[in-house]
Amino acid sequence: MALLQISEPGQSPDPHTRKFVAGIDLGTTNSLIATVREGEVVVLPDASGDVLLPSVVRFEADGRVTVGRAAQQAEIADPLNTIASVKRLMGRGRADVADSPYRLTGGAEGMVRIETVAGAKTPVEVSAQILAVLKARLEETLGGPLTAAVITVPAYFDEAQRQATKDAARLAGIEVLRLLNEPTAAAVAYGLDRNPEGLYCVYDLGGGTFDVSLLRLSEGVFEVLATGGDAALGGDDMDAAIVALWRARGARPESPEETRRLLRAARDARERLTLETEVAVDVAPIYAGRLSRDDLDAAIDPLIERTLVACRRVLKDAGAPVAEIGEVVLVGGATRTPRVRERVGALFRKEPLHDIDPDRVVAVGAARQADLLAGNAGAADMLLLDVIPLSLGIEIMGGLAEKIIPRNAPIPASRAQDFTTYKDGQGALAIHVVQGERDLVAECRSLARFELRGIPPMVAGAARIRVTFQVDADGLLSVSARETTSGAESRVTVRPSFGLSDAEIERMLQDSIASAESDAAARALREQQVEADRMIEAVRAAMAADEDLLAPGEREAIAARIAALKEARGGEDPRRIREEIAALDGASARFAARRMDAGLERAMKGRSVTEFR
Ligand code: ADP
Ligand code: MG
Repeated sequence: MALLQISEPGQSPDPHTRKFVAGIDLGTTNSLIATVREGEVVVLPDASGDVLLPSVVRFEADGRVTVGRAAQQAEIADPLNTIASVKRLMGRGRADVADSPYRLTGGAEGMVRIETVAGAKTPVEVSAQILAVLKARLEETLGGPLTAAVITVPAYFDEAQRQATKDAARLAGIEVLRLLNEPTAAAVAYGLDRNPEGLYCVYDLGGGTFDVSLLRLSEGVFEVLATGGDAALGGDDMDAAIVALWRARGARPESPEETRRLLRAARDARERLTLETEVAVDVAPIYAGRLSRDDLDAAIDPLIERTLVACRRVLKDAGAPVAEIGEVVLVGGATRTPRVRERVGALFRKEPLHDIDPDRVVAVGAARQADLLAGNAGAADMLLLDVIPLSLGIEIMGGLAEKIIPRNAPIPASRAQDFTTYKDGQGALAIHVVQGERDLVAECRSLARFELRGIPPMVAGAARIRVTFQVDADGLLSVSARETTSGAESRVTVRPSFGLSDAEIERMLQDSIASAESDAAARALREQQVEADRMIEAVRAAMAADEDLLAPGEREAIAARIAALKEARGGEDPRRIREEIAALDGASARFAARRMDAGLERAMKGRSVTEFR
């Protein structure tokens, strides 16, 4: 059994700072941030009460960057430096993007760049600006740092697009707990993960994109069976259809600026028609008139029909008949439009779920998932089979790392190992969870510290502390420590694989290979030093406790050996320390035997002989 590091519990660096995890919906049109507080999801508003942050970033010549509504207002005046819908450019090369309202160039690594007055910007940098504003919003509202987040991405995002999203988060100083598919987030928001196993459909109609996903739930895990949609179909196209109707009714915009104004008015009218049946429109001097719900429905029906065609195709691809779909979830601001709801309901022959605000549902699901991953909810989690990228273990005496789950072990994984105490009567111990391949803790990454209290007083080495490492299917690590005689128990949950970049993992592995030899030598030395300390401590405690059992001259003999051992311990030679340990052991052997006899005698005193039969 290895010995646990002793350090006084309660020395964690900042126990009073509150830290938060969040869910972020990094949308094409709008972005949101949400977090779980006391079991409830709250979507955080900005200072003026808006929860939607328009995904628009403006770069100015003086280096100033504005994000959100203020940037959106500059769109017309400063179109080339005001970047909207940057999500469409994420993870893309210059050749992947056909037409764009911006000046695009290709970078050396193939990533597209947007030329602005403030220089060339990658989509990753632009997205990072949006994320940074959301991060600041949370930190200002809740008064504590945002440590990590779940960020949602479309189900069809490829590796490059996902990596670009992660890079943007890193640039914004946000640790990514996980990227979560948007339709999965929406399903989680409705708690469908607790539903019967089966098929679920997520219909997401946003500002500029339409996505439909078919999910299969089995054993609490959502699998994306099929996706479909149209990357250029959404509320914006509805606005264009309305403007086309106004043109037919005589509107004559004479500049791109005037067309933009008409589009704005169309959007405004369309959104109002979600609750009203008719609205007045006045875009003086270009157009004035009335728009009814029926006008709108007629204008957008062909667009809705295109979404339904995509839905049917997805069902067909997956070989799933409509009757097998358990629930249909509506996502995206444009699904507020009554006609959309009506026609989706008719196709699936059931009322789609829409009681969670369709703008917020993805962020709500992401926040729930973040809460779960942070270990706050404790429910069983979903997704992915993976391996552990770097070994997991704990710190033992001498600053050594004892590996408990080796690198590349498939997850879920569970291993236990027994440890014991180092000092007589030690009532608590601090457990330091580390990750890495090196033998010395200083060279590993520190993951967590927690403490086990309530260990009954026992002599050193008598307590048996079982430390169990469990990594669930999501890569979430829980460590528990349990003292077996008293049942005292303590645990902590950490995320071992997240937060380490591939490059970091690579470097740590390289280091471990390069330093295997010096590590082994250091380990041998530390082990002997620890053993020496333990021995000296034990012998001194024994002499203090049972002074009367020492034979004449024995104290001096033992003291001389202790001095010699201490001297050896100060050196670098593990062999010499081992020899001195043996010498001290020899010098104190008889005294130890006498103590044992005396102890036995004391234990038997006052009890009847029959008890010992
Ligand atoms: P994205 O996922 O692309 O970021 P959103 O889900 O935020 O987009 O949806 C934005 C779209 O939702 C816009 O076209 C907007 O006009 C539309 N929308 C917002 N509110 C309403 C409403 N009350 N009625 C109809 N459409 C709405
Ligand atoms: Mg969206």
